[in-house]
Amino acid sequence: MKAVGPKLVIATHNAGKLREIRDLLAPYGIECLGAAELDLPEPEETGNSFVDNAELKARQAADLAGLPALADDSGLSVDALHGNPGIFSARWAEDQAGNRDFGRAMERVWREVEAAGPDAGHDAHFVCVLSLAWPDGSIESFEGKVHGTLTWPPRGDKGFGYDPMFIANGMTETFAEIDPAEKHAISHRAEAFKKLTAALG
Ligand code: IMP
Repeated sequence: MKAVGPKLVIATHNAGKLREIRDLLAPYGIECLGAAELDLPEPEETGNSFVDNAELKARQAADLAGLPALADDSGLSVDALHGNPGIFSARWAEDQAGNRDFGRAMERVWREVEAAGPDAGHDAHFVCVLSLAWPDGSIESFEGKVHGTLTWPPRGDKGFGYDPMFIANGMTETFAEIDPAEKHAISHRAEAFKKLTAALG
């Protein structure tokens, strides 16, 4: 893979994500600059897949900043719903004013799963794609997944998003009931990061 750093733009306006990524890349001597610090705009996620959206965010940041840039896109993909909410995972939680309520989003997922009938099953997976773009036009993407089943009603208050209704294969508790460290060891985001850091060398 082409060299990254010493400076890398993290194409997110989410302070939590920036902190997490900064910590993960610290051992590689990479200085992470947030999109907000550089006054970069938040692009519209117009892609049709996680890869498209991660790549369009990374590409725009690399072009505008003239530096390598890393972006991520993630979501919940439900088999009975043909992959939905998928790239719309955050949008399913938004009301008309743009406020997010994942209680409502989880209710919609469960309602649609029930409507799909018992044969459709409850299988689902989380996906995370990380894309690294360079100003010369090159780009590389890394995908992580964690498979599991959906449960109702939601349980636990440790996670975020759809965690309270997701039980990873081999577990009995939801992602919102287990210790965050336990989730981070097996999550879609962790797998994508392992692939990325393996490529960094
Ligand atoms: P984005 O990647 O920031 O565009 O948003 C992804 C959305 O997918 C989040 O708002 C959550 O709804 C959902 N999501 C992604 N990863 C997780 C996770 O680990 N747990 C629960 N929900 C997640």
